[in-house]
Amino acid sequence: MILCSSPLAQYNAHKEEIDAAIQRVLDKGWYILGEETKSFESEFAEYIGVPHGIGVGSGTEALHIAMAACGIGPGDEVVTVSHTAVATVAAIELTGARPVFVDIEPNYYTLDPKRLEAAITKQTKAIILVHLYGQSADILPMLDIAKKHGLRIIEDCAQAHGAVYQGRCVGSWGDMACFSFYPTKNLGALGDGGMVVTSNLKLAEKARLLREYGWAERYISKIPGWNTRLDELQAAILRVKLRYLDADNVARANIASIYDHALEGLGIVTPKRRQKATHVYHLYVIRSKKRDEMQAFLKARGVGALIHYPVPVHLQSAYRDTFQRRDDLLETEKAAREVLSLPIYPELPDKELNTVVEMVKYYGEKRS
Ligand SMILES: *Cc1c(COP(=O)(O)O)cnc(C)c1O
Repeated sequence: MILCSSPLAQYNAHKEEIDAAIQRVLDKGWYILGEETKSFESEFAEYIGVPHGIGVGSGTEALHIAMAACGIGPGDEVVTVSHTAVATVAAIELTGARPVFVDIEPNYYTLDPKRLEAAITKQTKAIILVHLYGQSADILPMLDIAKKHGLRIIEDCAQAHGAVYQGRCVGSWGDMACFSFYPTKNLGALGDGGMVVTSNLKLAEKARLLREYGWAERYISKIPGWNTRLDELQAAILRVKLRYLDADNVARANIASIYDHALEGLGIVTPKRRQKATHVYHLYVIRSKKRDEMQAFLKARGVGALIHYPVPVHLQSAYRDTFQRRDDLLETEKAAREVLSLPIYPELPDKELNTVVEMVKYYGEKRS
Protein backbone atom coordinates (compact mmCIF):
# COMPACT_ATOMS: atom_id res chain seq x y z
CA MET A 1 0.00 0.00 0.00
CA ILE A 2 1.30 3.47 -0.89
CA LEU A 3 1.03 5.42 2.36
CA CYS A 4 -0.27 8.96 2.85
CA SER A 5 2.69 9.71 5.14
CA SER A 6 5.67 7.73 6.42
CA PRO A 7 7.55 8.55 9.63
CA LEU A 8 9.62 5.40 9.03
CA ALA A 9 10.90 6.71 5.69
CA GLN A 10 12.00 9.88 7.46
CA TYR A 11 13.72 7.98 10.24
CA ASN A 12 15.59 5.91 7.65
CA ALA A 13 16.62 9.06 5.77
CA HIS A 14 18.39 10.42 8.88
CA LYS A 15 19.00 7.20 10.79
CA GLU A 16 22.64 7.76 11.73
CA GLU A 17 22.10 11.23 13.14
CA ILE A 18 18.93 10.24 14.97
CA ASP A 19 20.50 7.11 16.45
CA ALA A 20 23.46 9.19 17.66
CA ALA A 21 21.12 11.74 19.24
CA ILE A 22 19.19 9.00 21.05
CA GLN A 23 22.41 7.39 22.29
CA ARG A 24 23.65 10.76 23.55
CA VAL A 25 20.52 11.15 25.71
CA LEU A 26 20.61 7.56 26.97
CA ASP A 27 24.25 7.93 28.01
CA LYS A 28 23.68 11.25 29.72
CA GLY A 29 21.09 9.81 32.09
CA TRP A 30 18.87 12.93 32.19
CA TYR A 31 15.54 12.15 30.56
CA ILE A 32 13.03 14.90 31.39
CA LEU A 33 13.43 18.70 30.90
CA GLY A 34 17.17 18.98 30.44
CA GLU A 35 19.65 20.49 27.99
CA GLU A 36 18.13 18.89 24.87
CA THR A 37 14.66 20.28 25.57
CA LYS A 38 16.05 23.68 26.43
CA SER A 39 18.16 23.83 23.26
CA PHE A 40 15.30 22.61 21.08
CA GLU A 41 12.94 25.17 22.63
CA SER A 42 15.23 28.03 21.69
CA GLU A 43 16.16 26.60 18.27
CA PHE A 44 12.52 26.06 17.31
CA ALA A 45 11.35 29.44 18.67
CA GLU A 46 14.13 31.11 16.70
CA TYR A 47 13.09 29.22 13.57
CA ILE A 48 9.54 30.54 13.96
CA GLY A 49 10.85 34.01 14.77
CA VAL A 50 9.71 34.47 18.37
CA PRO A 51 11.69 34.66 21.62
CA HIS A 52 9.98 31.98 23.75
CA GLY A 53 9.30 28.26 23.30
CA ILE A 54 7.85 25.91 25.90
CA GLY A 55 8.07 22.19 25.11
CA VAL A 56 5.04 20.15 26.14
CA GLY A 57 3.68 16.61 25.79
CA SER A 58 1.56 16.99 22.62
CA GLY A 59 -0.14 19.46 20.32
CA THR A 60 -3.39 19.05 22.23
CA GLU A 61 -1.59 19.93 25.45
CA ALA A 62 0.10 22.90 23.75
CA LEU A 63 -3.38 24.29 23.02
CA HIS A 64 -4.59 23.46 26.54
CA ILE A 65 -1.56 25.21 28.11
CA ALA A 66 -1.87 28.25 25.82
CA MET A 67 -5.52 28.76 26.69
CA ALA A 68 -4.86 28.23 30.40
CA ALA A 69 -1.99 30.74 30.25
CA CYS A 70 -4.43 33.24 28.72
CA GLY A 71 -6.74 32.65 31.68
CA ILE A 72 -9.45 30.88 29.69
CA GLY A 73 -11.77 28.62 31.69
CA PRO A 74 -15.38 27.73 32.49
CA GLY A 75 -17.92 30.33 31.35
CA ASP A 76 -15.70 31.53 28.50
CA GLU A 77 -16.20 30.97 24.81
CA VAL A 78 -13.48 30.20 22.29
CA VAL A 79 -14.20 30.68 18.59
CA THR A 80 -12.72 28.24 16.11
CA VAL A 81 -13.64 25.93 13.21
CA SER A 82 -15.41 22.59 13.11
CA HIS A 83 -13.35 21.54 10.07
CA THR A 84 -10.21 20.59 12.03
CA ALA A 85 -8.58 17.75 13.93
CA VAL A 86 -10.80 16.98 16.90
CA ALA A 87 -7.79 17.86 19.07
CA THR A 88 -8.46 21.59 18.61
CA VAL A 89 -11.91 21.20 20.13
CA ALA A 90 -10.85 18.64 22.75
CA ALA A 91 -8.33 21.17 24.06
CA ILE A 92 -10.99 23.87 24.41
CA GLU A 93 -13.16 21.43 26.34
CA LEU A 94 -10.20 20.60 28.63
CA THR A 95 -10.17 24.21 29.80
CA GLY A 96 -13.89 24.12 30.60
CA ALA A 97 -14.63 26.80 28.01
CA ARG A 98 -17.23 26.40 25.27
CA PRO A 99 -16.18 25.98 21.63
CA VAL A 100 -18.07 28.17 19.14
CA PHE A 101 -17.80 27.27 15.46
CA VAL A 102 -17.45 29.49 12.43
CA ASP A 103 -17.61 28.25 8.84
CA ILE A 104 -14.55 27.99 6.59
CA GLU A 105 -13.43 29.69 3.39
CA PRO A 106 -14.12 26.99 0.78
CA ASN A 107 -10.91 27.64 -1.17
CA TYR A 108 -8.53 27.43 1.77
CA TYR A 109 -10.42 25.37 4.38
CA THR A 110 -9.64 27.90 7.13
CA LEU A 111 -11.80 30.16 9.31
CA ASP A 112 -13.73 32.65 7.18
CA PRO A 113 -12.95 36.15 8.50
CA LYS A 114 -16.21 37.49 7.02
CA ARG A 115 -18.18 35.27 9.38
CA LEU A 116 -16.06 35.79 12.47
CA GLU A 117 -17.64 38.85 14.06
CA ALA A 118 -21.14 37.35 14.12
CA ALA A 119 -19.86 34.59 16.43
CA ILE A 120 -18.39 36.95 19.05
CA THR A 121 -20.33 37.44 22.29
CA LYS A 122 -19.60 38.97 25.71
CA GLN A 123 -18.26 35.58 26.79
CA THR A 124 -15.75 35.26 23.93
CA LYS A 125 -12.14 35.26 25.15
CA ALA A 126 -10.11 33.93 22.25
CA ILE A 127 -10.02 32.81 18.64
CA ILE A 128 -8.10 29.70 17.67
CA LEU A 129 -6.87 30.02 14.09
CA VAL A 130 -6.16 26.61 12.59
CA HIS A 131 -3.66 26.73 9.71
CA LEU A 132 -5.01 23.62 8.02
CA TYR A 133 -3.23 21.22 5.65
CA GLY A 134 -0.04 23.34 5.62
CA GLN A 135 -1.44 26.73 4.70
CA SER A 136 -2.12 29.80 6.80
CA ALA A 137 -5.54 31.10 7.73
CA ASP A 138 -6.18 34.72 6.67
CA ILE A 139 -4.55 36.16 9.77
CA LEU A 140 -4.53 39.95 9.24
CA PRO A 141 -8.29 40.66 9.16
CA MET A 142 -8.74 38.43 12.17
CA LEU A 143 -6.02 40.22 14.13
CA ASP A 144 -7.99 43.44 13.54
CA ILE A 145 -11.23 41.89 14.75
CA ALA A 146 -9.50 40.41 17.82
CA LYS A 147 -8.00 43.78 18.66
CA LYS A 148 -11.32 45.55 18.30
CA HIS A 149 -13.03 43.13 20.71
CA GLY A 150 -10.07 42.62 23.09
CA LEU A 151 -9.67 38.92 22.27
CA ARG A 152 -6.63 36.65 22.33
CA ILE A 153 -5.48 34.99 19.12
CA ILE A 154 -4.07 31.50 19.54
CA GLU A 155 -2.66 29.83 16.43
CA ASP A 156 -3.01 26.08 15.93
CA CYS A 157 0.07 25.43 13.77
CA ALA A 158 0.04 21.64 14.14
CA GLN A 159 -0.10 21.23 10.35
CA ALA A 160 1.97 24.21 9.28
CA HIS A 161 5.57 24.11 10.60
CA GLY A 162 7.47 26.62 8.49
CA ALA A 163 4.50 27.99 6.51
CA VAL A 164 4.81 31.71 5.87
CA TYR A 165 2.06 34.35 5.74
CA GLN A 166 2.88 37.89 4.55
CA GLY A 167 6.60 37.36 5.11
CA ARG A 168 6.48 35.83 8.59
CA CYS A 169 6.12 32.26 9.82
CA VAL A 170 2.75 31.17 11.15
CA GLY A 171 3.15 30.95 14.88
CA SER A 172 4.65 34.44 15.10
CA TRP A 173 1.36 36.32 14.65
CA GLY A 174 -0.91 35.45 17.53
CA ASP A 175 -0.60 35.96 21.30
CA MET A 176 0.48 32.33 21.48
CA ALA A 177 0.91 29.55 18.95
CA CYS A 178 0.81 25.79 19.30
CA PHE A 179 2.69 23.08 17.46
CA SER A 180 2.38 19.30 17.47
CA PHE A 181 5.30 16.98 16.81
CA TYR A 182 3.14 13.91 16.27
CA PRO A 183 5.20 11.56 14.05
CA THR A 184 3.38 12.35 10.77
CA LYS A 185 3.55 16.16 11.10
CA ASN A 186 5.97 18.17 8.93
CA LEU A 187 8.27 18.21 11.96
CA GLY A 188 7.58 14.94 13.73
CA ALA A 189 9.07 13.20 16.75
CA LEU A 190 9.25 9.42 17.22
CA GLY A 191 6.51 9.66 19.81
CA ASP A 192 4.36 12.48 21.14
CA GLY A 193 5.48 16.07 21.58
CA GLY A 194 4.34 19.66 21.25
CA MET A 195 5.36 23.27 21.80
CA VAL A 196 3.85 26.60 22.70
CA VAL A 197 5.65 29.65 21.28
CA THR A 198 5.04 33.30 22.07
CA SER A 199 6.56 36.77 22.03
CA ASN A 200 4.83 37.64 25.29
CA LEU A 201 7.18 37.08 28.25
CA LYS A 202 4.38 37.00 30.85
CA LEU A 203 2.41 34.38 28.93
CA ALA A 204 5.61 32.36 28.38
CA GLU A 205 6.39 32.37 32.10
CA LYS A 206 2.88 31.27 32.96
CA ALA A 207 2.91 28.48 30.35
CA ARG A 208 6.25 27.27 31.72
CA LEU A 209 4.82 27.07 35.24
CA LEU A 210 1.62 25.33 34.12
CA ARG A 211 3.40 22.49 32.30
CA GLU A 212 5.03 21.24 35.52
CA TYR A 213 2.69 21.55 38.50
CA GLY A 214 3.12 25.32 38.67
CA TRP A 215 6.65 24.87 39.98
CA ALA A 216 8.85 27.97 40.03
CA GLU A 217 11.28 25.94 42.11
CA ARG A 218 11.24 22.21 42.58
CA TYR A 219 8.39 20.79 44.68
CA ILE A 220 6.94 24.25 45.38
CA SER A 221 3.83 25.10 43.34
CA LYS A 222 3.37 28.82 42.76
CA ILE A 223 0.13 28.30 40.83
CA PRO A 224 -1.92 25.16 40.22
CA GLY A 225 -0.60 23.33 37.17
CA TRP A 226 -0.27 19.81 35.86
CA ASN A 227 2.29 17.73 33.98
CA THR A 228 2.79 17.88 30.25
CA ARG A 229 6.46 17.84 29.33
CA LEU A 230 8.53 17.28 26.19
CA ASP A 231 11.07 14.59 27.01
CA GLU A 232 14.78 14.68 26.26
CA LEU A 233 14.73 11.83 23.73
CA GLN A 234 12.07 13.49 21.60
CA ALA A 235 13.77 16.89 21.90
CA ALA A 236 17.10 15.41 20.74
CA ILE A 237 15.39 13.71 17.76
CA LEU A 238 13.53 16.91 16.89
CA ARG A 239 16.78 18.92 16.95
CA VAL A 240 18.11 16.64 14.20
CA LYS A 241 14.93 16.85 12.14
CA LEU A 242 14.55 20.64 12.51
CA ARG A 243 17.72 21.03 10.43
CA TYR A 244 15.95 19.33 7.51
CA LEU A 245 12.54 20.98 7.87
CA ASP A 246 13.00 23.61 5.14
CA ALA A 247 14.37 21.06 2.65
CA ASP A 248 11.54 18.67 3.55
CA ASN A 249 8.95 21.39 2.96
CA VAL A 250 10.50 22.10 -0.46
CA ALA A 251 10.31 18.37 -1.28
CA ARG A 252 6.62 18.39 -0.31
CA ALA A 253 5.98 21.45 -2.50
CA ASN A 254 7.68 19.73 -5.45
CA ILE A 255 5.41 16.71 -5.11
CA ALA A 256 2.42 19.06 -4.84
CA SER A 257 3.37 20.80 -8.05
CA ILE A 258 3.67 17.46 -9.86
CA TYR A 259 0.15 16.60 -8.67
CA ASP A 260 -1.13 20.08 -9.64
CA HIS A 261 -0.01 19.67 -13.26
CA ALA A 262 -0.95 16.02 -13.61
CA LEU A 263 -4.49 16.48 -12.33
CA GLU A 264 -5.39 19.46 -14.53
CA GLY A 265 -8.53 19.11 -16.59
CA LEU A 266 -9.92 16.06 -14.80
CA GLY A 267 -12.74 17.81 -12.97
CA ILE A 268 -10.81 17.43 -9.72
CA VAL A 269 -10.27 20.51 -7.55
CA THR A 270 -6.58 20.83 -6.62
CA PRO A 271 -5.37 22.92 -3.63
CA LYS A 272 -5.53 26.70 -4.02
CA ARG A 273 -2.70 28.80 -2.68
CA ARG A 274 -3.34 31.90 -0.65
CA GLN A 275 -1.78 35.12 -1.96
CA LYS A 276 1.39 36.28 -0.17
CA ALA A 277 1.67 32.99 1.68
CA THR A 278 3.47 29.68 1.30
CA HIS A 279 1.97 26.21 1.54
CA VAL A 280 4.02 23.49 3.25
CA TYR A 281 1.67 20.67 2.17
CA HIS A 282 1.30 18.75 5.38
CA LEU A 283 -1.49 17.22 3.29
CA TYR A 284 -2.27 17.43 -0.43
CA VAL A 285 -6.03 17.73 -0.40
CA ILE A 286 -8.13 17.48 -3.54
CA ARG A 287 -11.90 17.61 -3.69
CA SER A 288 -14.43 15.82 -5.82
CA LYS A 289 -18.15 15.15 -5.73
CA LYS A 290 -17.28 11.46 -6.30
CA ARG A 291 -14.84 11.37 -3.39
CA ASP A 292 -15.95 8.08 -1.81
CA GLU A 293 -15.92 6.28 -5.14
CA MET A 294 -12.47 7.68 -5.93
CA GLN A 295 -11.07 6.66 -2.55
CA ALA A 296 -12.35 3.09 -2.99
CA PHE A 297 -10.96 2.95 -6.53
CA LEU A 298 -7.52 4.06 -5.31
CA LYS A 299 -7.56 1.73 -2.33
CA ALA A 300 -8.29 -1.26 -4.57
CA ARG A 301 -5.16 -0.33 -6.54
CA GLY A 302 -2.87 0.07 -3.55
CA VAL A 303 -3.08 3.84 -3.05
CA GLY A 304 -3.87 4.85 0.54
CA ALA A 305 -5.73 8.14 0.21
CA LEU A 306 -7.25 9.39 3.49
CA ILE A 307 -9.99 11.84 4.47
CA HIS A 308 -9.14 14.80 6.69
CA TYR A 309 -11.73 14.94 8.13
CA PRO A 310 -14.70 12.72 7.36
CA VAL A 311 -17.10 14.13 9.98
CA PRO A 312 -17.04 17.76 11.14
CA VAL A 313 -16.52 17.97 14.90
CA HIS A 314 -20.00 19.40 15.56
CA LEU A 315 -21.57 16.29 14.00
CA GLN A 316 -19.45 13.73 15.87
CA SER A 317 -21.32 11.69 18.46
CA ALA A 318 -19.11 12.88 21.34
CA TYR A 319 -20.22 16.45 20.67
CA ARG A 320 -23.74 15.94 19.40
CA ASP A 321 -25.25 17.04 22.72
CA THR A 322 -22.94 20.05 22.99
CA PHE A 323 -23.77 21.42 19.57
CA GLN A 324 -27.16 21.50 17.95
CA ARG A 325 -27.48 20.65 14.30
CA ARG A 326 -26.71 23.92 12.53
CA ASP A 327 -27.39 25.33 9.14
CA ASP A 328 -24.57 27.88 9.09
CA LEU A 329 -21.63 25.51 8.64
CA LEU A 330 -22.44 24.58 5.06
CA GLU A 331 -18.93 24.90 3.64
CA THR A 332 -17.61 22.81 6.54
CA GLU A 333 -20.11 20.05 5.86
CA LYS A 334 -19.53 20.20 2.11
CA ALA A 335 -15.75 19.93 2.55
CA ALA A 336 -16.18 16.88 4.77
CA ARG A 337 -18.10 15.20 1.93
CA GLU A 338 -15.63 16.07 -0.83
CA VAL A 339 -12.01 16.22 0.44
CA LEU A 340 -9.42 13.53 -0.17
CA SER A 341 -5.75 13.55 0.83
CA LEU A 342 -3.27 12.02 -1.60
CA PRO A 343 0.05 10.55 -0.41
CA ILE A 344 2.66 13.24 0.26
CA TYR A 345 5.84 13.12 2.31
CA PRO A 346 9.40 14.24 1.54
CA GLU A 347 10.74 10.72 0.93
CA LEU A 348 7.82 9.55 -1.25
CA PRO A 349 9.57 7.47 -3.97
CA ASP A 350 9.13 8.76 -7.56
CA LYS A 351 7.80 5.38 -8.58
CA GLU A 352 5.02 5.53 -6.00
CA LEU A 353 4.26 9.15 -6.87
CA ASN A 354 3.89 8.15 -10.52
CA THR A 355 1.58 5.32 -9.58
CA VAL A 356 -0.66 7.67 -7.59
CA VAL A 357 -0.74 10.15 -10.50
CA GLU A 358 -1.56 7.40 -13.00
CA MET A 359 -4.33 5.96 -10.85
CA VAL A 360 -5.97 9.33 -10.17
CA LYS A 361 -5.75 10.21 -13.87
CA TYR A 362 -7.08 6.82 -14.90
CA TYR A 363 -10.00 7.30 -12.55
CA GLY A 364 -10.65 10.84 -13.82
CA GLU A 365 -10.48 9.85 -17.51
CA LYS A 366 -12.60 6.76 -17.00
CA ARG A 367 -15.27 8.95 -15.48
CA SER A 368 -15.34 11.75 -18.05
C1 LIG B 1 -2.28 16.97 15.10
C2 LIG B 1 -3.13 18.13 15.41
C3 LIG B 1 -3.37 18.56 16.73
C4 LIG B 1 -3.00 17.76 17.93
O1 LIG B 1 -1.72 17.35 18.07
P1 LIG B 1 -1.36 16.09 18.98
O2 LIG B 1 0.12 16.23 19.11
O3 LIG B 1 -1.76 14.87 18.22
O4 LIG B 1 -2.06 16.23 20.27
C5 LIG B 1 -4.07 19.73 16.93
N1 LIG B 1 -4.55 20.44 15.88
C6 LIG B 1 -4.37 20.05 14.61
C7 LIG B 1 -4.92 20.91 13.52
C8 LIG B 1 -3.67 18.88 14.33
O5 LIG B 1 -3.52 18.49 13.05
